[in-house]
Amino acid sequence: MENERRDDSIERRIRAMCTRVQQIQQEGLYFYNIPIEELHGGARVLVNGREMGMFASYGYLGLLGHPRINAAAQRAVAKYGSGTHGVRTLAGTLTLHRELEDMIAEFKGAEAAVTFSSGYVTNLTTVSALVGRHDYVFSDKLNHASIVDGCLLSGAKFVRFRHNDMNDLEEKLREAPTTAGKLVVADAVFSMDGDIIDLPGVVDLCRRYGAWLMIDEAHSLGVLGKNGKGIEEHFGLEGTVDIKMGTLSKTIPSVGGYIAGSADLIRYLRHQSRAYIFSAALPPAQAAAALEAFRVIQDEVWRVEALRSNAEMFIKGLKRRGFDTMKTETAIVPVLCGTDEKAFAMTREAHQEDVFVLPVVSPAVPEGLARLRATVTAAHAPEDIEHAMDVFERAGKKIGVI
Ligand SMILES: *Cc1c(COP(=O)(O)O)cnc(C)c1O
Repeated sequence: MENERRDDSIERRIRAMCTRVQQIQQEGLYFYNIPIEELHGGARVLVNGREMGMFASYGYLGLLGHPRINAAAQRAVAKYGSGTHGVRTLAGTLTLHRELEDMIAEFKGAEAAVTFSSGYVTNLTTVSALVGRHDYVFSDKLNHASIVDGCLLSGAKFVRFRHNDMNDLEEKLREAPTTAGKLVVADAVFSMDGDIIDLPGVVDLCRRYGAWLMIDEAHSLGVLGKNGKGIEEHFGLEGTVDIKMGTLSKTIPSVGGYIAGSADLIRYLRHQSRAYIFSAALPPAQAAAALEAFRVIQDEVWRVEALRSNAEMFIKGLKRRGFDTMKTETAIVPVLCGTDEKAFAMTREAHQEDVFVLPVVSPAVPEGLARLRATVTAAHAPEDIEHAMDVFERAGKKIGVI
């Protein structure tokens, strides 16, 4: 039954969103939430009965469907079943969780690590467990939403600095009281632009102003550094990041998030993080898959190199064709389109030629900077990448992006 009295802000908010979505759907320009039917190797997927080149995957090393990882997940189900007995603190911890956490600590060159049930919740709970009223948290303007939400939830003074701008960060650090707790947080690789945080600059500032440093490696684990160990390896600055955060849902083809750091930091989080204490443990299959994935990365280091050369080929080829790929240096390659409409139209053309790529529009990115957010992986062959670039070129000329 209709509630007669409800014509309020909640109702209007829901209606406004639905109107916008339905309008885009009617124009045939809605590309989100499309079900993928099958994986055909790492570089192709079956969508709406058509095989398409996959250029929207976060599986940077092409590990999704890897036989060793699948087998590890299956063995874990056979051994432990499909869930746990609840939260980690009580009966939910399995030996598997400890093995995974030891592996992450070793891989990240840290004393210890702790896992959570998603990357999103890892940022939310970690930032809000570390800082509170009277503390200061400094966050790059382009940081991921989960960091922003963690900062807001914490109740700390939330200071945003200009994207990757060390002068601005320094000015803001200087303004904070010397005695206040200070935490600087940034993505290692920015999730919409693909550029890399100036780690040497941030580390230097954190040292000089007595701030803690937290870096989100969602898009740098397996991507940066000769062995895929991430941003510290990339810059040769091992041991400089206090709070090393990452997800188990991108390069690692599972789900979950982790924090690696000092033994005391991890002990603190196990007893203070509300997501750790009040939410169920990672299921065995996902923990086992993640554990095996770290082993595979170490055994198949060639994947890291393949990713790097694919990313380089993709970025150079797009630039040569006249596209603006912004400041990316990684596997996340923005193909700048301008208006939301142009980004939607580019996507439609790409899909018609069986290249699966997705647009990012406002408010996820500033108005006028709508783009295709294309990604390459270690699984792509050079021909796959050439083909996608040719498709983008035809579409770009037709739509007036190049
Ligand atoms: C994807 C992402 C997350 C969230 O990770 P999930 O495991 O998907 O919840 C956090 N930070 C960044 C930068 C991300 O890109």
